[in-house]
Amino acid sequence: MKKYVGKGVYGAVAIGKVSLYKKQEAVVKRIHITDVENEKARLAQAKALAVRQLEEIYDKALKEVGEANAAIFEIHQMMLDDDDYNDSIHNIIESQSVNAEYAVAVTADNFAEMFAAMEDAYMKARAADVRDISNRLIGNLSGQSANACASDEKTIICAGDLAPSETVSLDKKKVLAFVTAHGSSNSHTAILARNMNIPAIIGVGDEFLNEIKDGDEAIVDGFTGEIFVNPDAETLTAWREKQLADEEQKHLLLELKGKENVTLDGKKINVYANIGSAAQTGEVLLNDAGGIGLFRSEFLYLENSDYPTEEQQFIAYKKVLESMAGKKVIIRTLDIGADKQVDYFHLKKEENPALGYRAIRICLTRPEIFKTQLRALYRASVFGNLGIMFPMITSVPELERILSLCSKVRLELKSEGIAFSASVELGIMIETPAAAIISDKLAPMVDFFSVGTNDLTQYTLACDRQNPDIEEFVDTHHEAILRLIEMSAKNAHEHGAWIGICGELAADTTLTETFLRMGIDELSVSPSFVLKVRDAVRRTDLSK
Ligand code: PEP
Ligand code: MG
Repeated sequence: MKKYVGKGVYGAVAIGKVSLYKKQEAVVKRIHITDVENEKARLAQAKALAVRQLEEIYDKALKEVGEANAAIFEIHQMMLDDDDYNDSIHNIIESQSVNAEYAVAVTADNFAEMFAAMEDAYMKARAADVRDISNRLIGNLSGQSANACASDEKTIICAGDLAPSETVSLDKKKVLAFVTAHGSSNSHTAILARNMNIPAIIGVGDEFLNEIKDGDEAIVDGFTGEIFVNPDAETLTAWREKQLADEEQKHLLLELKGKENVTLDGKKINVYANIGSAAQTGEVLLNDAGGIGLFRSEFLYLENSDYPTEEQQFIAYKKVLESMAGKKVIIRTLDIGADKQVDYFHLKKEENPALGYRAIRICLTRPEIFKTQLRALYRASVFGNLGIMFPMITSVPELERILSLCSKVRLELKSEGIAFSASVELGIMIETPAAAIISDKLAPMVDFFSVGTNDLTQYTLACDRQNPDIEEFVDTHHEAILRLIEMSAKNAHEHGAWIGICGELAADTTLTETFLRMGIDELSVSPSFVLKVRDAVRRTDLSK
């Protein structure tokens, strides 16, 4: 087995045989000619044929990749008509008395070099387009047929590079994936592969091209850009599973996209996603989540070498809120300490860090850090539908201090004339047994609860979540945990609050019905589990 890495341009997995794409590039000879007019007439004929070919390719592309992506072949037609391009070919034929093929090849080299030298990535990638149309002209002039692949079965097409027209001209029914040694992710080949929904990797390098052979077995992972050639059994099994999971996911997405998350008897449930960085909002939207149920804001602190400023935080929160375009975004305030250590906080080494100085305990004892975050959050609130959530709550006085600080921040902003939304929901995590047990006292103070089953499990079962040696004692379905969730749900509803679950257990679909029967209103899970949970919700019937 040998592994190569390139840049994945379409996320999917393909497993199959390799077929080397054989470019039938004409060897262009410089031939002295005497009849210049005849050479120009040959060129005109080749050009007319190229235009017809491009019209056909455009029609094929229109069907397969849509108008916006097919447009490149209209541009190719325009490039063929470009005055500078044509003047250059004619000048070379006339001034050097040479054949049209040679004049086209020299012009192609000059123009491609000019594009490749440009700063702008889009313009740089146009070098491939000029070569594409020029190869077509040369092929037509020399009467050569189209390029071909050796195989008739569905294969992984491997090539040095693929021109946009070659990519579209390939018979999609025979292509499992594309892998090219060269190319850029901005190239039209990459764009077309993406839109043809074919796993594709570009820029794998010359070593790959020199070593790969027709008929080799390969795994193409368009998510990671990895290619495994002649994979061992273990790798094959792992990637078959990945392929299956991805196909199931895509199938579910097609089925569920745009549909409401209602149980069979009509109860609406919010299925949201958990994220750990602003960059993950793409994944959230891709998986069609209804909102963000837990944004672990720690990443801002973990990624920085000093306390992130109010402005830095404001920009990050605003970005997430704007990308979610009015969908709910619940941002959890700083949950540092225990397993998440940050140097510049200078936290002391503790005997039992999970039971120690972490999360809200740091925020309440170092209010300047907390206030900076709250100001940034409230300032960002005008850019979307924000909820703020506090971790590791254990008591009423703790929550009173938090709420009083929030109101202080709102007053401060108001006096400074800084806008913030009046409808920011405030909630707490139920992740300590104490919070669940006094949830009747906490519920009237907030808009929502979100159960953090990861910590609730560790604290209820007295099982350190970081310790792999005690995994057999971690019964996530333990009755004590389920009773605490049920109790919290009942108390939330009795006091007008809503309740969600954002710990890992929310994605356990064997418990979806149990949670919904308890009255859970929202389930927030990793983006990749959203569809699975939505599917489970839509299959649940609470009327029976
Ligand atoms: C939890 O404890 O369940 C939770 C969601 O928070 P974290 O995993 O970040 O501690
Ligand atoms: Mg937690």
